[in-house]
Amino acid sequence: MFDIAHMKSEVAKILEQYKGKTFKNRKGHVLVVDSAEAPQVIEADCRTIPGIITERGCCYAGCKGVVVGPLKDTIALTHGPIGCGYYSWLTRRNKARKNEGDEFNFLPYCFSTDMQETDVVFGGEKKLKQAITEVVDIFKPKSIMICSTCPVGLIGDDINAVARWSEETYGVQTISYSCEGYKGVSQSAGHHIANNGLYKNIIGTGTDPSVKKQYSINILGEYNIGGDGWEIERILNALGYNILAMMSGDGSVERLRNAHLADLNLVQCHRSTNYNAELLRDTYGTDWVKVNFLGVRSTIQSLRDVALYFGDPDLIARTEEFIYKELEAIEPEIEKYKKVCQGKTVALFVGGSRANFFQGLFEEIGMETVLAGFEFAHRDDYEGREVIPTIKENADNKNIESLTAKRDEKRYRVLLSQEKYEELEKKMELNDFKGMIKIMKDGSVVVDDINHYEIESFMKVLKPDLFGSGIKEKYVIHKMGTLSKQIHSYDYSGPFAGFKGAVIFARDVAMGLTAPVWSMVKPKWKAEPAPKSFVEEVR
Ligand code: SF4
Repeated sequence: MFDIAHMKSEVAKILEQYKGKTFKNRKGHVLVVDSAEAPQVIEADCRTIPGIITERGCCYAGCKGVVVGPLKDTIALTHGPIGCGYYSWLTRRNKARKNEGDEFNFLPYCFSTDMQETDVVFGGEKKLKQAITEVVDIFKPKSIMICSTCPVGLIGDDINAVARWSEETYGVQTISYSCEGYKGVSQSAGHHIANNGLYKNIIGTGTDPSVKKQYSINILGEYNIGGDGWEIERILNALGYNILAMMSGDGSVERLRNAHLADLNLVQCHRSTNYNAELLRDTYGTDWVKVNFLGVRSTIQSLRDVALYFGDPDLIARTEEFIYKELEAIEPEIEKYKKVCQGKTVALFVGGSRANFFQGLFEEIGMETVLAGFEFAHRDDYEGREVIPTIKENADNKNIESLTAKRDEKRYRVLLSQEKYEELEKKMELNDFKGMIKIMKDGSVVVDDINHYEIESFMKVLKPDLFGSGIKEKYVIHKMGTLSKQIHSYDYSGPFAGFKGAVIFARDVAMGLTAPVWSMVKPKWKAEPAPKSFVEEVR
């Protein structure tokens, strides 16, 4: 790890290249971890500087692409020109399959109103109605989610009125999301809008109490990338948990309707679902626990925390036995790959959660994280939820509706006594998240909303052996002669979650680091001096 003072001076040199306001802005978004200075404050969830080559996406991507899109039994209808729907069509690997009893899996389709110039001039509501008519006629869905794109808000299409019309005309539940791309500053606003829509219209509308069994849980913020959710399900099912809903990987609206019946919510991605975790707690009394199924150690910790929450000695013993057996199966495999990865370093820049999750996975194969950052996380994801009361609203997030939950007196129930709650609070992140900075080592760097210039600069200073990020950065890094792994799409591999996923992850990293291509980056004629005789001849 780097010396704190040295790293601070390197960061200062990188930031000094900015002029005036840009310098003032960016200096708040970069810090060197220094436990002596704790608590360290970072600026996040602020407007991106125009022209800086950010890695961020938009509000529509956060709503339709991340939260609503993975629900397999609803039609996510993009209202806008074709680009938004087309570029988000099957590019996020939120896998889904039709299980026994499932009626639909609409995920392979791309539904868009394909707005044209005339729709922008005369309004797109007519076309949206026509699209709904066709969708109902052809696919006969139980629900439709209308997702707005940039022009929709600008031309004033009333998607709420169209949704009402759709329900009245066809009897199909239709939910409208005003998730125009320019809202907020990143994907994050879209997560919030999607959470609100699901909370107001779906969760709690289930009418089948028979789905509730012992140890009923929901998994919030798990999107089944590369099958992660299925590995998590395998583990939790083996331990006897009853998973009511997954929000929203391989998820369905019909299952989400009963999410209010859960005894506990497991929150994997804090950024995208903390809204509903809190709303469900206030409305129904359901506690949530922060889990992390990416990494063997964190998977074990999460399983122990959940078992401890229920407090059943049988469940706790079963959990330990299960962990023992799983470890026995995977440890020799991981050790094999660890030999290759040991001592190497990694830089991570991913969305709003994974730069945190993956640090444990890398550590388990002997790799140290020297830089980590998020595209669109908020200060609480970096510093912990205790800073939430100090976060100031700004012009960009003020217009995103923040719901206040009303207690559902009939269905509200509390599982833990005050005494038990206080005892568990000390042992786990119960209704709490401590943030990423606390798990990072002194001298490592945290960067919020990194840009192209900063990626290049930090690559030169930190020289990591691996850069874990997304598709936009991948080939820039490869052209610099360094391995890049996609932490969003898993380079079309996975799952990486749970016990089995950790082995696939270790194998993929070891394979990447040992690929012969890295020894061929420098052409031989550059690496080896020309023969002396030849040089003399030329002279
Ligand atoms: S920014 Fe606007 S146009 Fe671009 S993808 Fe998002 S919604 Fe579509």
